[in-house]
Amino acid sequence: MDLQAASLDQLRRWETELSADYQAIKAKGLKLDLTRGKPSVDQVKLSDALDGILKGNYVSDDGTDTRNYGGIDGLPGAKALGAELMGIPAVNVLVGGNSSLTLMHQAMSIAHFHGLAGADSAWAREGKVKCLCPVPGYDRHFSVCEHLGIEMITVPMLSTGPDMDKVEALLKADQSIKAMWCVPRFSNPTGVVYSDDTVQRIAALGKIAAANFRVFWDNAYAVHSLDDSAPQLASIFDACAAAGTEDSVLQFSSTSKITFAGAGVAFMGASEANLKGFKASLGFITIGPDKVNQLRHIKFFAAAGSLKAQMKKHAELLKPRFATVLKHLQDAFGDNDLGRWESAQGGYFVSFDTRPGLAKTVVKLAADAGVKLTPAGATYPYGKDPNDSNIRIAPSVPAVSEVEEAMKVFVVCVKLASVRQALEQ
Ligand code: PMP
Repeated sequence: MDLQAASLDQLRRWETELSADYQAIKAKGLKLDLTRGKPSVDQVKLSDALDGILKGNYVSDDGTDTRNYGGIDGLPGAKALGAELMGIPAVNVLVGGNSSLTLMHQAMSIAHFHGLAGADSAWAREGKVKCLCPVPGYDRHFSVCEHLGIEMITVPMLSTGPDMDKVEALLKADQSIKAMWCVPRFSNPTGVVYSDDTVQRIAALGKIAAANFRVFWDNAYAVHSLDDSAPQLASIFDACAAAGTEDSVLQFSSTSKITFAGAGVAFMGASEANLKGFKASLGFITIGPDKVNQLRHIKFFAAAGSLKAQMKKHAELLKPRFATVLKHLQDAFGDNDLGRWESAQGGYFVSFDTRPGLAKTVVKLAADAGVKLTPAGATYPYGKDPNDSNIRIAPSVPAVSEVEEAMKVFVVCVKLASVRQALEQ
């Protein structure tokens, strides 16, 4: 389908055919959902052994009665789990509750209002505060900034990660930039794994940015590859140690998409100075996290064999769903310019770009035909995609047959919207 070369007559013929296809789909009364990146029922079932695993023994190896208060840092065994997940020493890990998003919100609030290195380091003291947001990105990161009144500055995502020339230039010019969001492996939504060079350059930002600048390194998909050939991520921890910028990065991860999404364990990884600053404020928020769940996870992974073994089972369930999405995109748009996408090798999303100005239309057409997609614009700060072209496809929850059906609808919607746009132009 070459819209550029097509005659007016050809465009009209395509419009008639696609409109008919679309009406036929509409008549089916489908109810399909490709919106949120959460695990399917079969995936959460993989961890059902968590229930009852303690068999009434609530005391951890180090002698902690997990039923009681305390242990703001987390159990040693849970720290070891976080250390394995993030590839950092256990002394640099703090174990939180069930959500890394909570830890990120708390860390950003604390850095903003109270300072991670004493009251003088609080961002809010300096007036306007800005955060760099690679786009397209994760909507909930942007909501955290919005909630705290932090202005967001977008930076394009490239196939190597954020556009580092832009990031460095912005930071050099503006010391009121205090933070940057990063999803370094299988980025939400583009699926990109940051290149080694990008990781090095991010570790070096601490040398050019304000002293209280922090990278929020959200490694939510650290071990979530679809197969062994997926690219590895260089260690930001080692890169910071080499650059002498240990305090400039806060890492986050969780077992949300490893065990139970709503009842997993979250981790923060940071320099000892940052952890000290964080805990000084955390002590006002909680007497301690849910250590019973931490112990359940320690025992679960001891029984499961390894993190890797557990992730392989997830990959087996996710792979056919991703393959279905990619097959439909390749078949429909592989030889034309109606859309662009990255072939994600892990994570939970495929990010698709329509021709400029069409994302909202496609999402609306799909919704009217019974296929729910993430609202257009959600992957940009303030919900505003300046090109109105990015659509996040999340295929983990529906069955493969439903992904198949939903993608057929998606393809028709993209083609129809594109042809109609070409006719208007
Ligand atoms: N970070 C990213 C990039 C995510 O995609 C998600 C889940 N969609 C989260 C964090 C949420 O993690 P948690 O469940 O640990 O709060």
